[in-house]
Amino acid sequence: MRQLRIDLTKCNHGRDCAHECETACATKVFKVDDPKMAALHIRDNGDGTGSTILCDQCGDCVVVCPAEALKRNKLGVVMINKSLCVGCYMCIGFCEKDAFERNPDWVEPYKCTSCGICVKACPHAALEIVDVPEPAYRIV
Ligand code: SF4
Ligand code: SF4
Ligand code: SF4
Repeated sequence: MRQLRIDLTKCNHGRDCAHECETACATKVFKVDDPKMAALHIRDNGDGTGSTILCDQCGDCVVVCPAEALKRNKLGVVMINKSLCVGCYMCIGFCEKDAFERNPDWVEPYKCTSCGICVKACPHAALEIVDVPEPAYRIV
């Protein structure tokens, strides 16, 4: 499956990636007019370390969605079928990585699509798109 990964030892928490996701994805694709609504977030912990909020395409939300609105596409990326989503937000509550965002005018939430646009924006080559085996779905 196509997965966005970050190497925090290379990351300087400059947020170029999040800015690129905001510009290229959040504003244009997810239609949120808010610069903080990127599909990834980089935090500076203030002690020299950083942390991320990032979808790793684990697929846990696929299992919990009662409307079968979440499915992997042929690249293994978890995508939302807008026409099936009923807006229950169980996926948001269930995602341990806190990786969903919401356009308040939309029923369906949105998440990282592993498009890779942010990868090119990082001046430290801390981000990459990798192809890894899909994990077995967790039993819920
Ligand atoms: S949104 Fe959360 S639960 Fe769903 S695939 Fe991404 S990390 Fe996993
Ligand atoms: S909000 Fe939509 S995608 Fe999320 S669990 Fe509910 S129906 Fe599924
Ligand atoms: S891969 Fe695309 S959707 Fe995901 S965080 Fe990067 S720019 Fe945003």
